[in-house]
Amino acid sequence: MSEAYAPTPLPWQKEDWELIQRTRRDDRLPHALLLSGPEGIGKRRFADAIAASFLCTSAEVDGSACGNCRGCELFRAGTHPDLKTIMPEAPGKAIRIDAIRDYTSKESLTAQAGGYKIVIVEPADAMNRSAANSLLKTLEEPVEWTFILLISAQPERLPATIRSRCRQLQMKLPQRGLAVRWLAGEVDQMDPALLLSLASGAPLRARALADSELLGLRVKLLDEFAAIIEGKADPVAVAASWNRLDPSLVVGWYSGWLTDCLRLKTDPDYVDLINPDQRNRLQEIGESIEFKRLFGYIDDAHRALLALGSQLNQQLMLESLLLPLAGSAPVIRDREK
Ligand SMILES: [Zn+2]
Repeated sequence: MSEAYAPTPLPWQKEDWELIQRTRRDDRLPHALLLSGPEGIGKRRFADAIAASFLCTSAEVDGSACGNCRGCELFRAGTHPDLKTIMPEAPGKAIRIDAIRDYTSKESLTAQAGGYKIVIVEPADAMNRSAANSLLKTLEEPVEWTFILLISAQPERLPATIRSRCRQLQMKLPQRGLAVRWLAGEVDQMDPALLLSLASGAPLRARALADSELLGLRVKLLDEFAAIIEGKADPVAVAASWNRLDPSLVVGWYSGWLTDCLRLKTDPDYVDLINPDQRNRLQEIGESIEFKRLFGYIDDAHRALLALGSQLNQQLMLESLLLPLAGSAPVIRDREK
């Protein structure tokens, strides 16, 4: 018995899925689709489900791949000749022109199995300028039956010329109840609602948190953050240790703590915290920092979040966040005495 499996869209992607399938049935598919939306909501999973659907030779009524045909078999083995996935060689690296050129020349865009030829580029905003120019040529002279899926959480980083040649599908954070229900089926022994909050509402990111030691790490970093504020830790040394971690994660956490500090300072009963498990602690920290300073820290954190990826020196970026904190509230714990 063969193991039938094909990727399917996630529960919150139903409408987007139906839209694409309808567009395909009506023969109105664009040559390129830009899937945008926050990190961790399953854009890649959606692209895979579309690819599997288009490469399947006996898809179900709703467009899902059957999981059994030759197309599905090749898809599963990762050897379908009409599917190419272009990613950076390592996370954070650029996608270079060779990678794009290899897959987007006219010959390689002609499907071997006589159906669609699908190219997935993830993350599309990692293409360097020459790679983007090379892709642009393909978008300007599309080959029939080619379907290019660009995935990006930061589509504004793509050249406007590329964006204007794609149809954009903006995928949103799922409705919270739906995401919590899905997550409950994915993680054991952990509170799905808490995980979802920590992941800013992105379910796949939440699942990754459950799978890793990240939650413990987050508490350790929060300890260090509090120690800097109390003047008990050296911000430069802490920046150096945080610099070894994924900056988007660290700066995301950092910004979330400060946001919660401000919320709790304004309303101690605030309900929808990002870090509900650290309520008391963040409330204490918030109460011990002046409003004006707190706003300044939050501004800096938001600026750092926006500039992520374009930062040449992350250590300096982290120091610029942490140095102003130093000793700003020497008495967080003393208040309780
Ligand atoms: Zn199939």
